[in-house]
Amino acid sequence: MPGGSDEKERRVKVDRKRAAQQRRIAQSMGGIGFALPGSLTVRAYRCGKAKCRCKADPPQLHGPYAFWTRKIDAKTVTRILTEEELADYQELFDNARRLRDLMSQLQELTLQLVEEADGGSRAKAVKKSPRTAQGLRRGASRAAQAE
Ligand SMILES: [Zn+2]
Repeated sequence: MPGGSDEKERRVKVDRKRAAQQRRIAQSMGGIGFALPGSLTVRAYRCGKAKCRCKADPPQLHGPYAFWTRKIDAKTVTRILTEEELADYQELFDNARRLRDLMSQLQELTLQLVEEADGGSRAKAVKKSPRTAQGLRRGASRAAQAE
């Protein structure tokens, strides 16, 4: 934010406990190898054919198959993996999931720091984005008046 008089003072204070947690998360992230985007689901399914064993009584579903679903150019694309591919890629999916978990932990940790700095005001501002924008404008005009 330009023009603020308290630019140099950092609002977010990091205590030793949180700093240690951040380092631990970063270390864990650094130990993770390659990671595939998207999600993996293994399931049996019914096909679209009217007469098929998957609609018999009792039904014999197709699969189970491993479905790899991800976004490519904002489109959801699903691919069925062979057993060999699944065996090969499983670790890469697991790595991606661990990275997402660690990222969530890091974001939660950072959110705690920011909320402490804000004195809890962030939780109220999150409800509607227009309010957030108004808050920023109010903050800017207040800073202008202070000068
Ligand atoms: Zn079928």
